[in-house]
Amino acid sequence: MILKGNPVSPGVALGEAFLYQVPVYEVLESYVEKGSERKYMDSLELALYKANSELEDLMAALMESEPDKAKIFAAHREILGDEEILEMLKEAVEEEGKHPDFAVKSVFDKFIELIGNVKDPLIAARTADLKDVCNRLLRILKGEKEKNLSSLPENSIVVAKDLLPSDTATIDRAHVAGIITEAGGAASHTAIIARGYRIPAVAGVDKVLEIIEDGTTLVLDALTGEITVSPDEKKKKAAVLKAEDFKNQKAEAEKFESKPAVTADGIKVEIGINIGTDKFCVPFENYDFVGLFRTEFLYMESNHLPTEEEQLESYKRVLEQAKGKPVTLRTLDIGGDKTLSYMQLPKEGNPFLGNRALRLCFKHTDLFETQLRAALRASAFGPLQIMFPMVGSIEDIRRAKAAVLAVKEQLRREKQSFNENTGVGVMIEIPAAAVIADLVAEEVDFASVGTNDLAQYLCAADRMNPETAVYYQSMSPAMLRVLGTIFEAFHRKGKPVSVCGELAGDPEAAVLLAGLGLRKFSMSESGIAQIKAVLAGINTEKARETALICKQLCTEKEVKEYLAENTPC
Ligand code: PEP
Ligand code: MG
Repeated sequence: MILKGNPVSPGVALGEAFLYQVPVYEVLESYVEKGSERKYMDSLELALYKANSELEDLMAALMESEPDKAKIFAAHREILGDEEILEMLKEAVEEEGKHPDFAVKSVFDKFIELIGNVKDPLIAARTADLKDVCNRLLRILKGEKEKNLSSLPENSIVVAKDLLPSDTATIDRAHVAGIITEAGGAASHTAIIARGYRIPAVAGVDKVLEIIEDGTTLVLDALTGEITVSPDEKKKKAAVLKAEDFKNQKAEAEKFESKPAVTADGIKVEIGINIGTDKFCVPFENYDFVGLFRTEFLYMESNHLPTEEEQLESYKRVLEQAKGKPVTLRTLDIGGDKTLSYMQLPKEGNPFLGNRALRLCFKHTDLFETQLRAALRASAFGPLQIMFPMVGSIEDIRRAKAAVLAVKEQLRREKQSFNENTGVGVMIEIPAAAVIADLVAEEVDFASVGTNDLAQYLCAADRMNPETAVYYQSMSPAMLRVLGTIFEAFHRKGKPVSVCGELAGDPEAAVLLAGLGLRKFSMSESGIAQIKAVLAGINTEKARETALICKQLCTEKEVKEYLAENTPC
């Protein structure tokens, strides 16, 4: 059987399906027979013991490589050993005669409610841990094996409805061969992380969880978007050859990876990297700057709001690793598809058009101030610049800049060191800001274009929804005209402008971006080699003519056809 989806991270894989669903356990009110309470208490104690040893194993596996994540499981063990919880569980089974799973559910629910009502976000964050531990116990009581993505069987192709960014961030990279999801488009965060980790991925496969069974052999062709379920020997062999071929092509491009990016006519292009963690390990020669540090992953991987000191440490680590190369720190961009387990975000009908990113920071001034303090203090340790996401107007820019000034004043009063000249810039990803790019350029030190959101808002097509993927056109003449306007406005003012959306790492778009005048591309590490290889074959004068012609075409399809037939070397 062949299934079709959108290829969102290139590669070819042959492996076994690993079906992943966050389980929801339904627990009914039920009581044990009188006189059998002790027997049921024994099975609850056994479940507690098993949960504890599962957590021990998880901690041991993560301690070396990812000590921060190991800490989460250490906290879960503390919950399991909590005297009050154990006492209440015992009472529920032995005295009230509750069935063990009903006892677990009612005791944990009580604690979750109690703690969830506490105002302090650090304490309220514990509810996510309590829910997790409760789920673990219920699963063990039901006799089911543990399923998460941090420890996968070899050669697993993860099949899921959708993956949370935190699922993808903690995925077992040594054993995952590919990802298939029902939801998500090329600009979803799952896709971005998959590309960052170089995991072949296909998104938008309808009803995939109903069609594919756990353990089924699959060929995942994330070059065409085709998935073969239970392939015959011939198909398997062909997949192995295609994967080999893809690897060789990549190896060819990789010859360019550590060289400076220069076009065929000798124009230097700066290459930036997009990172989501302070543990990135991109070779120093491969890039010129960190064009996008998505700080929200620090928040998403933690079980509490990161403190000022925790953030400072993380930002310093990034600066240290970048060894003097400029780092663009983007302030918290949460909301839309990115949530925090410990923070209640407003329930909105259109979250991508709601209070996300900078708007949310304006509402939570403490959170915003803490991040700005950490960022500015980090600026004393290396060339850091601050960038605001989701800027829609000059008011937004002025309000964000005022927050920076206020924090600088605080730090001065406290005699804390920071760089007074820290650059302040914005992401241009809302069309309203793009159209007035000339005015934006007056207000800021630099800008970076977020083409993922810009295309979503310009085309009014949800970047996550496979059903609207055909309307999401990041190379349409409309996009090209808007991009041209932004680049020209910034160049006229002599201010730096880059692109850090996925378009910058798309080899098909490189000619257009270079032709529209872009000289700073920022992308996931996996795109660097190929973009440098493509740029090396481009003549910028001819690319300029190509971009001019494409701006005058009528449709994205025409643009792509024109590019396929006319390589401006
Ligand atoms: C963008 O919108 O292009 C961007 C880089 O930001 P994110 O993908 O994190 O929304
Ligand atoms: Mg964005």
